[in-house]
Amino acid sequence: MATPLDRSATWPYEDGEPGAFSYARADHPTGVEAEAALGALDGGQALLYPSGMGAVTTVVLTMLKAGGTLALAAGAYYGHRQLLDQLAPWGVRVVEFDQTGPPPDGADLVLLEAPANPLLTMPDLESAAAHPAPVVCDATIASPLRLRPLDHGCDVVLHSATKVLAGHDDVLAGVTVTRDPELHHRLHLTRRLAGIVAPADTAWLVLRGLRTLEVRLDRQEATARLLAGRLEGHPAVTTVRYPGFSFLISFDVADAGAASRVERGLELIENATSLGGTRTKLEARHRWEGDRIPEGLLRLSVGLEPPEALWRDLEQALDRL
Ligand code: PLP
Repeated sequence: MATPLDRSATWPYEDGEPGAFSYARADHPTGVEAEAALGALDGGQALLYPSGMGAVTTVVLTMLKAGGTLALAAGAYYGHRQLLDQLAPWGVRVVEFDQTGPPPDGADLVLLEAPANPLLTMPDLESAAAHPAPVVCDATIASPLRLRPLDHGCDVVLHSATKVLAGHDDVLAGVTVTRDPELHHRLHLTRRLAGIVAPADTAWLVLRGLRTLEVRLDRQEATARLLAGRLEGHPAVTTVRYPGFSFLISFDVADAGAASRVERGLELIENATSLGGTRTKLEARHRWEGDRIPEGLLRLSVGLEPPEALWRDLEQALDRL
């Protein structure tokens, strides 16, 4: 019943020639099985990576040339911007744009995020698809159960599978999915040559997480809706951002001091980074992202705990502000 876990790095040749699997940096059976499941969810051919950032790096190295410009959704995961800045010495240029409208002229690659973490704007997928450059959409927070960007004309969808896809905060993983066989081949080549390859254990944990994805997401989303509505009504909360689906909310309190008091006042909710897991987590994002976001912004990733217990915990921490 469970997927076999084959940790081999190498397999014997068959009749003097490499078979389907020869060396794990190219492919391995558990990885291929995870890729079949992930590809079915997004409707394309999937590749697994050892982290979401490994997936983004592979995309940028494969789809952008030196001197090329990447149009990045403003407010997208701050690590994307940091990675692109790190690649500046290789001639990678970046411009940020408001993803609720069309990408700027002259971009060679477009990177959207659905919804953006942590400002939770949604991209205009149709306008992006009309742009001449290839479009990549990071749909980590939507998940393929709520949005399939390839159906809306995107060329590649990517996920940090560390988040809701694996879902238990015990593995780092990333995935790309595309319907273009030639692009799939080029991504695979970069992954193999750069060695950005997920081990079999990672693939196994992703496969196990996928078995419960639908029930976890349904529950997390129902609780997130409830909490977003209640946060709207709390006097210490100035803004609530919730796109109406999935598990992530961000909301603002007065300032950095108030945000820190909420973080330290929680009893059930973990004060920790990351999102999409079974445990509810809250953190002030200003410490990581600086002035690109409000200093009182708190990001809440809703997990599987009883909804009323989560609200009681939030309420008691907010009431003390
Ligand atoms: N994309 C989004 C939307 C994220 O939130 C993150 C991490 O938080 C990443 C990508 C990077 O994924 P990983 O941490 O698996 O490298």
